[in-house]
Amino acid sequence: MLDDISSTPQGFTAEAPRAPSPAPLIDPFQRAISYLRISVTDRCDLRCAYCMSDNMQFLPKRDLLTLEELDRLCGVFIARGVRKLRITGGEPLVRRDIMHLFRRLSRHLDSGALEELTLTTNGTQLTRYADELASLGVRRINVSLDTLDAGKFRAITRRGDLPVVLDGIAAARKAGMKVKINAVALRDVNADEIPDMIAWAHGLGMDMTLIEVMPLGEIEADRTDQFLPLSVARQRLESRYTLTPLSDRTGGPARYVRVEETGGKLGFITPLTHNFCESCNRVRLTCTGQLYLCLGQEDSADLRAVLRASPDDAVLAAAVVEAITRKPKGHDFVIERQRPAAVPRHMSVTGG
Ligand code: SAM
Ligand code: SF4
Repeated sequence: MLDDISSTPQGFTAEAPRAPSPAPLIDPFQRAISYLRISVTDRCDLRCAYCMSDNMQFLPKRDLLTLEELDRLCGVFIARGVRKLRITGGEPLVRRDIMHLFRRLSRHLDSGALEELTLTTNGTQLTRYADELASLGVRRINVSLDTLDAGKFRAITRRGDLPVVLDGIAAARKAGMKVKINAVALRDVNADEIPDMIAWAHGLGMDMTLIEVMPLGEIEADRTDQFLPLSVARQRLESRYTLTPLSDRTGGPARYVRVEETGGKLGFITPLTHNFCESCNRVRLTCTGQLYLCLGQEDSADLRAVLRASPDDAVLAAAVVEAITRKPKGHDFVIERQRPAAVPRHMSVTGG
């Protein structure tokens, strides 16, 4: 935001006194919370085998925060120093009237209070929404895509059409948004394809990030059968590519390398083989208004109850501040055979 400048009687210009900004959100480990991820729905038009079970029981719609409530909550976080919002799900673009929320939130970009408004999507609805998202100030998006083989794509997602997603990615790029491809590394499914996917993504100027399967929510498969440690994937990649570590840090879990042969950037998200919590700057809001302080821990704060009990944003802000005092030091994921998922919530609930 522009500072107010007023003239002094001497003809000098000086800054007018401003109301002090509310204190930023700092957790007990001195991490500043500047990043909020919001799952706007637990529903999805796909059923990726590592993410959901085929017959998911979705939440009744009445339990969801309305778009107005989501907007209000985001405003409270932004007023307390959150600079980046990521809209996710479930599949965020299948929520009815979701563009209404983007339209509302884009005012914080215009005012300068918010640095970035972005989303993570499976890409199926992008041909419809890419232009409007770009016009509202969404500059970068993450699209999740685990394979470039249409048959495998159908098998992984249990219902998706690869060309629809590829068209969506093309529409996003054409609209001027920077696209990053997220791929979950799956041992017997896409492990062999990863080098070619990198060549494809980097050839189109898109960064790519590989993700380890995390034990979130019950699914039909045993995740130990899906899990490919990225340390192994990286070793294999090094027989084809020269990987130069980069110092880029986003406060997030990814560690980046430059692939010298393609010139593109490759990220590794390794919650299982490497803990990434010490620099965590984020919290996550579910579509029912539960604020999770850590993707891998159960403790949460019920902001929906507070929000519906009082129209006063100061009350809501106090609940947020209290919740942040409970942010844990980190997660302790382990993938173990024939154990229930380490965290009962699916990724689609807490938001990936
Ligand atoms: N539907 C959108 C999408 O697929 O991008 C947004 C939500 S999805 C839950 C966000 C990300 O989480 C995706 O990149 C997906 O591949 C990843 N994901 C889902 N379940 C996961 C799991 N159990 N372990 C690791 N990543 C997972
Ligand atoms: Fe849907 Fe995304 Fe989960 Fe796939 S990963 S089932 S697209 S929410």
